[in-house]
Amino acid sequence: MLRVGLTGGIGSGKSTVSAQLASLGAVVVDADVLAREVVEPGTPALAAVVDRFGPDVLTEAGDLDRPALGRLVFGHPAALHDLEAITHPAIWSRTREVVAAARADAVVVHDMPLLVEKGMTGEYHLVVVVGASEETRLRRLVDLRGMTEEDARARIAAQCDDDARRAAADVWLDNEGGTDALRAAVLRLWSERLEPFELNVRHGIRSRLAHPTLSVPDPSWPPEADRLLARVRHAVGDTAVTLHHIGSTAVPGLVAKDVVDLQVGVRSLADADDPAFVEAMAAAGFVRLAGEWHDNGKDGTTWPKRYHGSCDPGRVAHVHVREAGSPGWRWALLFRDWLRADGDERTAYAAMKTELAGRAATTQDYARAKEPWFEEADERAHAWARRTGWQPPEVAPQ
Ligand code: ADP
Repeated sequence: MLRVGLTGGIGSGKSTVSAQLASLGAVVVDADVLAREVVEPGTPALAAVVDRFGPDVLTEAGDLDRPALGRLVFGHPAALHDLEAITHPAIWSRTREVVAAARADAVVVHDMPLLVEKGMTGEYHLVVVVGASEETRLRRLVDLRGMTEEDARARIAAQCDDDARRAAADVWLDNEGGTDALRAAVLRLWSERLEPFELNVRHGIRSRLAHPTLSVPDPSWPPEADRLLARVRHAVGDTAVTLHHIGSTAVPGLVAKDVVDLQVGVRSLADADDPAFVEAMAAAGFVRLAGEWHDNGKDGTTWPKRYHGSCDPGRVAHVHVREAGSPGWRWALLFRDWLRADGDERTAYAAMKTELAGRAATTQDYARAKEPWFEEADERAHAWARRTGWQPPEVAPQ
């Protein structure tokens, strides 16, 4: 099963996208619909709302009088908090029920207006945001939905801004243009990313780069890594004692293969071998790769690790699971911080990578060819650490 979060500011076209995804075969879980269902007449949540806010929040027919309730809670944080304390648990449990009822091969799309505001990005394999400028959204709400301009402006202002949505978006569906362009983009998203991603998660297939070509530095790598780390955190909780973006994509300005490397620090590799950890990672879209994995330390030493790969066909990512505080864990952070700090070393490393990428054939060849450089870099990175007093982040005692 693939869990996709779908959001967008009011009037962006989120419902239009959601309807198209449903027609393509997605199971759409509409948060607004569930929010209405849980307070239908006869529900425990509606009874609790009446207990808290009085019988005036009911219509003559016994339905929830939304405008009346709205007047009591909007602009009154304590009252809103009480209302949410009643409705949210009911909505979450209903959401879980609906998701659990979906088939194992379903693409479940959670249509959730406040996904970003509620900090839910880690719960999904992928977050899709429908975006359009405020002026466009205002025009649509007034012209097509019959809202007054004042009402539309107030609703837009009550939501988060586009910067926050962009940071949360794995996929940004621009809906500034016409509906044909949007339809084509949704169809592409479905066939090129959601369907193959679901298949990969179900069968435990990781995605990989066909060729080890280098990309120019991409400023979207760090925020992308943050989203992936949030997913790992959500999947494995405190078993991950540290979570970091490492490797070349974590060094701004450095050319890199378009692969996001992440490091999960665990107390002991036994934690990473626990079937519960392996399954949680796989269910979150990070399948464990079979075999013995290690990094080469100095003088022939090896540092063992566990290795997971992302199943997302649109984002190759590697997760290196190492013991927090171990030499391999420390080296990954030192190397990153050293290259971040030293522009000359960054340039030298970029030149070496570019030269190698020009002649190496496979990812393995490329990795092997980098080794001699790494041995010398090790000395210089440690010298830098001594000079600057660099320390890795503290690992909290157990
Ligand atoms: P949301 O669910 O994000 O509030 P909707 O999907 O309901 O937004 O879209 C708002 C209005 O704009 C609807 O009437 C919809 O038909 C219309 N709409 C959506 N996308 C476009 C578009 N690309 N061009 C013109 N109108 C659009």
